[in-house]
Amino acid sequence: MRIAIIGGGIGGLSAALQLLKPGFDVHVYEQAAAIGEIGAGIQISPNASRLLVRLGLNPAMDKVSVRPLAVHQRRWDDGRTLERAPLGPEVEAAFGAPYYHFHRGDLAELLGTVVPAERLHVGHKLLDLIQKCERIVARFENGASVETDLLIGADGIHSRVRHLLFGPEKPRFTGCVAWRGLVPAERIRHLCIEIASHSWLGPDGHVVHYWVSGGRMMNVVCVVEPGEWTQESWTDKGEVAEVLGRYEGWHPIVRGLIGAFPETLIWALHDRLPLPRWSDGRVTLLGDACHPMLPMMAQGAAQSIEDGAALAASLTTRPGDVTGALVRYEEVHKPRATRLREASATNRKRFHLPDGPEQQKRDEALATSGDRSIANIGWLYRHDAAQVV
Ligand SMILES: Cc1cc2nc3c(=O)[nH]c(=O)nc-3n(C[C@H](O)[C@H](O)[C@H](O)COP(=O)(O)OP(=O)(O)OC[C@H]3O[C@@H](n4cnc5c(N)ncnc54)[C@H](O)[C@@H]3O)c2cc1C
Repeated sequence: MRIAIIGGGIGGLSAALQLLKPGFDVHVYEQAAAIGEIGAGIQISPNASRLLVRLGLNPAMDKVSVRPLAVHQRRWDDGRTLERAPLGPEVEAAFGAPYYHFHRGDLAELLGTVVPAERLHVGHKLLDLIQKCERIVARFENGASVETDLLIGADGIHSRVRHLLFGPEKPRFTGCVAWRGLVPAERIRHLCIEIASHSWLGPDGHVVHYWVSGGRMMNVVCVVEPGEWTQESWTDKGEVAEVLGRYEGWHPIVRGLIGAFPETLIWALHDRLPLPRWSDGRVTLLGDACHPMLPMMAQGAAQSIEDGAALAASLTTRPGDVTGALVRYEEVHKPRATRLREASATNRKRFHLPDGPEQQKRDEALATSGDRSIANIGWLYRHDAAQVV
């Protein structure tokens, strides 16, 4: 069966690899002139890493990633530990796959190199598609057109495929603005930052940081609300002085990291209302195209990788029944993506509580039961999207 994937981001590329494995005839069409992601970090938890490991990518992933030892949630001003939970060998032993930190560019390049070159078509921006009986014709801005038996829109939050299937609807500004910085290790050695995923929770904002690129750089994301910036772009430059101003009074490590930014990029966080369904006939969606979510569970890309596995499993077990396989893909995977979307929105509120009774209740819960303990995170990390068919 011929499968066209629109979009060569982490979701589209990992879906291509998972669909090529059982023998589907897969081609990826990406609008950009080359595969790659703009500099920032990404955390890949065991529910997604096990799917990449299964593709034999672990030696390549080990070369460019960092494996954090722990997740450390701290208070914004005095740095007190609210929760510290394992992410290293204990998590790998419990869930059978490692927790990784990547520079996005490293992960995208790694995935793009493994997809056979003749199956990767850059410079192909989808304009249009027509479904006729059991085939689909996709037309691209460069004048090319292709015929396929199944088309998957993995074209991100501004998905053209979603628009063509379900009509126009703009992503919504969530009110949160994020600044990103990538800090070379030599600039922050004096801060002695452990190889872990660090989250600092405070009033109207939080900061997440972790090592990437084999420990050569620290990825830092600072999220605040309400934010005035409403543009969503990976390349808009922000002002380091403005970020420092928003984090006045925060712990010296947080301010030390921000102060060490060589530059900062700013973007507004958007989401969309959930779709009642993801597929129409022989066309479906995956990743941010169908379930964009706030980053407060660090699961958007992980879910897009799971989508590819769920699709591959459903199509493989239903040969000749593409529409049935798409229905099943949604049945098994949509509730999970929806749960994570909602959990991300809840975390936004929890992370940004002003100091007071609600914050104290949150901190007590983090200290006693903890949301990242092996027992409490099992529902998320243990899931194997390829097995639920
Ligand atoms: C601050 C922040 C931190 C995050 N941290 C994490 C994290 O730690 N872990 C995690 O799992 N997730 C994280 N996420 C979420 C994650 O970044 C996204 O969910 C993920 O990148 C979505 O991947 P995707 O492949 O679906 O879409 P995208 O990455 O947006 O890729 C879409 C691709 O489609 C292409 N495209 C678009 N339109 C067309 C067209 N018409 N024709 C052809 N090609 C097209 C684009 O060029 C792009 O390459 C984070 C998000 C943010 C904002």
